[in-house]
Amino acid sequence: SSKIATPGGPAALEVIGVSKDFETFSALRDVHLKVNQGEMLCFLGPSGCGKTTLLRIIAGLETQTAGRIMQSGKDVSLLPPNQRDYGIVFQSYALFPNLTIAQNVGYGLVNNRARRAEIKARVDELLHLVGLPSSGAKYPSQLSGGQQQRVALARALATRPKLLLLDEPLSALDAMERIRLRGEIRRLQKQVGVTTIMVTHDQEEALSMADRIVVMNHGVIEQVGTPMEVYERPATPFVADFVGKVNVLQSVALGNQRFRVGDMELQCDACSSAFAPGEAVNLYLRPEDRAVEHLDEGTANRLRALVTRVEFLGGLCIAEVTADALRGQTLGLHFSLNQLHDLDIREGNTIDIALRANRIRAFPARVP
Ligand code: ATP
Repeated sequence: SSKIATPGGPAALEVIGVSKDFETFSALRDVHLKVNQGEMLCFLGPSGCGKTTLLRIIAGLETQTAGRIMQSGKDVSLLPPNQRDYGIVFQSYALFPNLTIAQNVGYGLVNNRARRAEIKARVDELLHLVGLPSSGAKYPSQLSGGQQQRVALARALATRPKLLLLDEPLSALDAMERIRLRGEIRRLQKQVGVTTIMVTHDQEEALSMADRIVVMNHGVIEQVGTPMEVYERPATPFVADFVGKVNVLQSVALGNQRFRVGDMELQCDACSSAFAPGEAVNLYLRPEDRAVEHLDEGTANRLRALVTRVEFLGGLCIAEVTADALRGQTLGLHFSLNQLHDLDIREGNTIDIALRANRIRAFPARVP
């Protein structure tokens, strides 16, 4: 992964104690966040969690009820949008339909009274950058959705803003185009080095594009971390559940990182031992965190499981399994297609597996 400069100086952007109330509804509550120079940050969360509202407050398109926004150490909280230094791309392409692509990209430069030759050179450079070098004379309606979003990106970068804001920029595109543009935005962002914040509700998008993910729920930040941190060490049950697929097993703590699930005892090496014996605990296991090889008497969390369903998805498949010992609780586990064949994993068969003790996370069943 890329190195992010964390200079001793001020953060590229800092959100300090921002809250937002819409009449009686509290959309953001005391949000604090530091954005490093040159990083790509994703706001990730379900519909209504406040991620768009936070982006709009950063952009000055919405006014916070409380708190401050600092850009490179300067308080911009009270500045109108056009006096803040950012470029923005919205979900809908939002290009001017009656202007050519070149005129769209150069729009902010004309406003800045740049010289014609300069504008042309900059527009050419940007159209090259987004892979549309020969589309300058066309109109938006002549381009595909993905191409229009590339133009919107070029337009947002034209004035060399210090900050790039992307509000669900891929969600109106079809699946193939979305994946292509994901990689391109990521490459472009690194190439230009512009500090970027992207809003998305798509966890795969966030995992594949972000340097750090800000997971939001009900107007608060639940966790900030690299994609791998958020996936492998979720701070809360919400994060474990929202980012990636996960199995939840109901258990009772036995002490010493052991838990009773149905008639089984599970060992959980990675979880804190702060659970009092008898406490109700939910165990979180990712679908890939099962072992099928080198199982012996000493392997923790061994289980003879009955395959109840196989979902064929191509190279990676999902098998739903259960066991008498689990007393009705089921697990969805990933297997490669090769494993499916080699281990004869199909509905009605039994397989020997082990739930990986160092990968199970545990959270109290009752949130305090
Ligand atoms: P989505 O992906 O659906 O846009 P989001 O996480 O971006 O979700 P926001 O758009 O930030 O959520 O909205 C957060 C909450 O604030 C929502 O419950 C929304 O209904 C509410 N909200 C947003 N704008 C207003 C407004 N102008 N007046 C009243 N409530 C609003």
